[in-house]
Amino acid sequence: MRRVLVIGAGAAGLAAARPLAAKGWAVTVLEAGSSVGGRLAQAEACGAGGDAVRFDPLGTFVSTADRHVLALLAELDASARIVALGPGGLAQTYRGRAASVDASSRLGVARIPGVRNLDALRLVRLDRLLGRYRKHLDVDAPERGAPLDDRCLRDFATLYFGRSVAERWVGPFATVGTGNRADDASRLLFLLRATSHRAASLATLQGGIGRLLVDAAAGLDVRLGARATAIAPLADGGFEVAFETAEGSGSAPADAVVLAVAAGAARELGAGILATAETDFLSGVRYAPGLALALGFEHRPFEAPRRIQVPQVDAWPLDSVSLLPGGATEGLPDEGGLAVALASPDWAERHIDVADDVVGKDLAGVLARLVPGARHGAAFTHIHRQSAWMPRFDAGHFRALADFRRVNGDQRREGRRLYLAGDYLAGPWLDSALGSGGRAARELAADLSG
Ligand SMILES: Cc1cc2nc3c(=O)[nH]c(=O)nc-3n(C[C@H](O)[C@H](O)[C@H](O)COP(=O)(O)OP(=O)(O)OC[C@H]3O[C@@H](n4cnc5c(N)ncnc54)[C@H](O)[C@@H]3O)c2cc1C
Repeated sequence: MRRVLVIGAGAAGLAAARPLAAKGWAVTVLEAGSSVGGRLAQAEACGAGGDAVRFDPLGTFVSTADRHVLALLAELDASARIVALGPGGLAQTYRGRAASVDASSRLGVARIPGVRNLDALRLVRLDRLLGRYRKHLDVDAPERGAPLDDRCLRDFATLYFGRSVAERWVGPFATVGTGNRADDASRLLFLLRATSHRAASLATLQGGIGRLLVDAAAGLDVRLGARATAIAPLADGGFEVAFETAEGSGSAPADAVVLAVAAGAARELGAGILATAETDFLSGVRYAPGLALALGFEHRPFEAPRRIQVPQVDAWPLDSVSLLPGGATEGLPDEGGLAVALASPDWAERHIDVADDVVGKDLAGVLARLVPGARHGAAFTHIHRQSAWMPRFDAGHFRALADFRRVNGDQRREGRRLYLAGDYLAGPWLDSALGSGGRAARELAADLSG
């Protein structure tokens, strides 16, 4: 029987482990942390009655076009958990006020406050562009877009569609919730998203993403608190993976290894096995810092789930506000709710080391401007901060990724059975991380079965 070790029980690692375990192979997932989910592991706060409340640190938003999320839900017999936002579910700020937007059609984009009619008319170019670039646009193999990775999203969109569309639609559509900046992000981030998600709706997940990943891990052999420390090649082409746990250190042999950790950790663990071009790529991956304030309410000060996005051009401290009814959060009553204010990339970078009370006060102040009822009555307040939060897909990232994939393919052909997975290889969304794990599993299965 084939033995596979997956290092990392985040979305990518779990997505890699599931199909391999389903083949009947002996798959073990080593996870350094105390829970599964990685960066999406649930946050925990103490509710009004002293009970634990568990929630996704950023609130939960997926999309009805997230193919891998939908497939995972179907596998778990949980498709009913995804709920598309109704009319008014997506809003955007303009001149300090939030207005509902529906950006799923050209007419909808034309109606976004601040978008000029003449600029909106230029959007007819988008379908032509997407058609012309089709062979380069594959969300599951984004390196195919390397020839288009030559300029930033804002310059590209301003040139093709005009400034107002660039600032009020293209920027928010491709960057909200991702820590990426429209001034730096590659235009490919937008083009890839536009091919697959332009006509889709935002959606929430009942129980949250953290819960989904806990369910995805059920039935897998996951060793929590097991930190991989080194990978040594064996003469038979397999590997010996050393790890540490609270009880001591150990090691396990494997025919193949999936490294589903962040880029820096992958570089360290793969030292001596990865080719120079692969290590160079991993060294060049940049992560944006993230800061978010979550307020939990026993009685929510808003009606329905909603995401309010703030265009970066407005230079607010906020990237977005997520408003979720109690059902999406374990431990809150149905009439309760969660409001999450995510700081803008610039503000997060400047405030990542600032004390919680200062950050909390500032973010709560801007949140209350958009959701006045959130000013008072929160049952709990939670600040989530991470210095390496989301990978940045700046112009040039996909070209470097293409070089990485080329060398990676050569190594596979030479018989190396080490596979990498993670959001930094695909895109800054849950769906991308799941897709990247699935791709690693397919490549591994093809190599080991061949
Ligand atoms: C706070 C936050 C909220 C998000 N919310 C959303 C959302 O609402 N919707 C959406 O679409 N996307 C969201 N995303 C984006 C997306 O979910 C992430 O990009 C994705 O979860 C990344 O998964 P991953 O498996 O690549 O990495 P990770 O989640 O970082 O997983 C890597 C795992 O490897 C483990 N590990 C590291 N080193 C070792 C070692 N040596 N040995 C063993 N284990 C190790 C880590 O502990 C971790 O569990 C969010 C991201 C963040 C950061």
